Amino acid sequence: MKTSVKSPLVMGYEVVIGFETHAQLSTQSKIFSRASTAFGAEPNTQACAVDLALPGTLPVMNKGAVERAIAFGLAVGSHIAPRSIFARKNYFYPDLPKGYQISQFEIPVVQGGEVEFYLGDEKRSVRLVRAHLEEDAGKSLHEDFIGQTGIDLNRAGTPLLEIVTEPDMRSSAEAVAYAKELHKIVTWIGICDGNMQEGSFRCDANVSVRKPGAPLGTRREIKNLNSFKFMQQAIDYEVRWQIERIEDGKAIEQATVLFNPDTGETRAMRTKEDAADYRYFPDPDLPPLCISEQWVQEIRAQMAELPRVMADRFVREHGLPEYDATQLTQSQAIAAYFQDAVLLCQQPKLVSNWVMGEVSRKLNADELEFEKIPVSALQLGELIKRISDGTISNNAAKQVFDALWAGDVSGVDAIIEAKGLKQMNDTGALEKIVDGVMAANAKNVAEFKAGNEKALNALVGQIMKASQGKANPQQVNELLRQKLA
Ligand code: ADP
Ligand code: MG
Repeated sequence: MKTSVKSPLVMGYEVVIGFETHAQLSTQSKIFSRASTAFGAEPNTQACAVDLALPGTLPVMNKGAVERAIAFGLAVGSHIAPRSIFARKNYFYPDLPKGYQISQFEIPVVQGGEVEFYLGDEKRSVRLVRAHLEEDAGKSLHEDFIGQTGIDLNRAGTPLLEIVTEPDMRSSAEAVAYAKELHKIVTWIGICDGNMQEGSFRCDANVSVRKPGAPLGTRREIKNLNSFKFMQQAIDYEVRWQIERIEDGKAIEQATVLFNPDTGETRAMRTKEDAADYRYFPDPDLPPLCISEQWVQEIRAQMAELPRVMADRFVREHGLPEYDATQLTQSQAIAAYFQDAVLLCQQPKLVSNWVMGEVSRKLNADELEFEKIPVSALQLGELIKRISDGTISNNAAKQVFDALWAGDVSGVDAIIEAKGLKQMNDTGALEKIVDGVMAANAKNVAEFKAGNEKALNALVGQIMKASQGKANPQQVNELLRQKLA
């Protein structure tokens, strides 16, 4: 794959971005305990002795979390380590009662791999360094109204997969496109619910700038970006901030920064600590994580076709443009809908146009998730069948679609009948109208005969009106040309 595309420069600087993404794995229970991971419970009602770090408790690995990590590695072409190690990342914080986070350091479970996506019509690829399993920490709740801070350990021990890229991205737009693709992959294979507001998918963007050809600049890491919009804003602000500072003759200091959506600015939270500060060492409470080739194969066999593979198949099998195929594989729900409708009407391009056009317009207007769509794939398939066999025009089909959307379950044909939307297929009746319109519009007829193509449109318009929109415009055109020849 070609990735040696020329980087876009910002004020003469090249932007370099690497991502660390925390995807919360969709297991029912925590990574090392049996407490529930459900979101939104009363504080500390889902924290068991292990999560509270009571003395003498021991972590027990959740198999489901490992399965999800393996599935991710397979989806992005990584090496699945047959033996990986859990390590203690030591630091003090009130929401971390153990005094360390269990993570993976030297030998992570998922190694290498790449994420491919489109940036406009350009195919790009971002290499992954690794993806490792770790536990989340708890949360400090600052209760301003009583001037106190409480600790909620419900989140402590929630399974995370931290996915780390090489510094391969060269613009905020590319970073967002990568993050969207990654989000699509983890939700598609069902290892993460992808809910960004609830923190199930959070990105840290490492950003630096350099003059083209220079060695990598010093990076600053923007923490916890949990919306694609903020991601782009934060990176753009950070890039400008760094360039201005360098232009002022000052150095960039490695730091961790936070983005404030209200001001649109990034602000240093702390100067960055080094790996050495965490004093990583293998966790003596957990044996090495051993994964057999057979287990990997079992998971591979159960995995659904991946979005990129499916998109390529849509191009090949249905002759769809690359753009359509990408849009139709945004989620499993959309892809299934498209395929079901095509199965019924055998009109892939028409279905694609409807899904990307009318369907998505109505979903947006009603602020509905695709999963909640009120018109079934079979209904849309029936409707498109009636367009392609000439029963109704595309415009009439929109009226039928609106009725279906509003909950009319009488059936596509019944709605067409009830609304009198059938196109005129009776040539005799149509000829009568055409003759009538030609007689009443002698001027247009003469103009057309004199070589003015536009005059034909005027006649078509008159005929459509006279037929109350039921004539087939193409048929009208043909008939007119015959008569005027
Ligand atoms: P740490 O684990 O201390 O955060 P890593 O070296 O693992 O440091 O890098 C973390 C992330 O920062 C990776 O995604 C990497 O690609 C990215 N990164 C490293 N150096 C740079 C740089 N100079 N500019 C931008 N991103 C960088
Ligand atoms: Mg980091």
